[in-house]
Amino acid sequence: MDWIEGYFQNLESYPVKSNVAPKDIYNTIPASPPQESESLDDILKDVNEKIIPGITHWQHPNFFAYFPANTSFPSILGEMLTATLGAQCMIWDTSPAAAELEERMMEWLRDSMGLPNNWEGCIQDTASTASLVAILTAREKATDFKSNEEGVPNNLRVYCSTQTHSSIEKGVCISGIGRKNMVKIPVDDDMRMIPERLEAQIKEDIQNGLKPCCVVTAMGTTGTVAIDDLKVIGPVCAKYDVWLHVDAAYAGSALMLAEYQWMAEGMEYADSFVFNPHKWLFTNFDCTAYYVKDVDILLKTFEVLPEYLKTKTRGQVNDYRDWGVPLGRRFRALKLWFVLRSFGIKGIRKRMRHHIALNDWFANQIEESADFELVTTAVLNFTCFRYRPPAIKDEVILNQLNQKLLDQLNTSGKAFLSHTKVNNIYALRMVIGQTYVEQRHIEMVLEELRKIASGLDI
Ligand code: PLP
Repeated sequence: MDWIEGYFQNLESYPVKSNVAPKDIYNTIPASPPQESESLDDILKDVNEKIIPGITHWQHPNFFAYFPANTSFPSILGEMLTATLGAQCMIWDTSPAAAELEERMMEWLRDSMGLPNNWEGCIQDTASTASLVAILTAREKATDFKSNEEGVPNNLRVYCSTQTHSSIEKGVCISGIGRKNMVKIPVDDDMRMIPERLEAQIKEDIQNGLKPCCVVTAMGTTGTVAIDDLKVIGPVCAKYDVWLHVDAAYAGSALMLAEYQWMAEGMEYADSFVFNPHKWLFTNFDCTAYYVKDVDILLKTFEVLPEYLKTKTRGQVNDYRDWGVPLGRRFRALKLWFVLRSFGIKGIRKRMRHHIALNDWFANQIEESADFELVTTAVLNFTCFRYRPPAIKDEVILNQLNQKLLDQLNTSGKAFLSHTKVNNIYALRMVIGQTYVEQRHIEMVLEELRKIASGLDI
């Protein structure tokens, strides 16, 4: 407990991104384990000396890279109780409280986010797993549950946009549908899937004897947080009876806010939906919320019942082992309960709006700056931008400059941002989702960006 308290007190003194070289940490760890017991003091000393230098501080207020994986004090306490109880929550019988709290937490989130009230959900480890579960369920539905029995036919098709997260490709591979049957639909200037191109592709595939199985839309792509238009794509899926999965891993949390409910227009067409409280909902990794419209199809896909797991309560309760891939399950609902109760929904909304306001300020500064520009429209708490001094027109040089700018900022240890490419433009990504971030942190990063940029060799 003392160590944890000290860590948060000193957090801002650490370099945000670890700069160790490959094998630096490995070489400090003895080649074989101790035969005799070592003291906790010695172990903690090594944590400070050997481990901390190799940690990138995801909870540092100047961490703006990728998407955050934010945590909070209530979440840490919940997680500590989970570790203390050490319950393995595979079925209701192995800890009724875990199963029933999970059921309730999924309802709390669903209702606070305005998701359809007939949906049922469970907690998965990651969005990657949840999307795999969605693809497998879609596969079973499309093949009348024969793939589980006989193997996967080679004519199933999965559609997503060119901007889709790599977890979908992985899911398609694991499902046996095959990478060649994953079709990446082009996007418009705002990086959103073009619904007309989706429909044309589905029609063409049907004519060629292929079987459309699943469409995956993004509510917030990883590169630029583009929001696919569910209200246009949804009816296309309904028309051709194709499973619609919504990957809202990051941006889904924003459905907590009334002003972002527009992102969910058309959600009634969705068959499954995933978002990560472990990204922007103050709940430490891992905690993914996965919802389905028809839980029977999900259960039919995943249920295998060996003798040793038969219980008297079967059918009256949720045995979550049937809702996904793993048998064993951690008690993840506990930390979510701690977070939702400690913050309250109003407290969560307030903090998210604070992030969005900080981002509005940052994006505005970029827009008004003579040497920087927005690369895509700022959305939620996300800004995609680049350094672009008016004197430099050459795109190759601009890309090199921005790469150098990012490298220098990240190696300075003062802040950590990541990048993406938008139509061959090397762009910096700034995501403001840290639990304890303040205006002064954003001002600092802007000043640092300006300072480094003005000193770059062209
Ligand atoms: N989907 C999107 C849109 C993402 O941005 C990410 C990760 O950033 C994922 C899926 C994968 O999330 P996870 O790490 O929970 O598997």
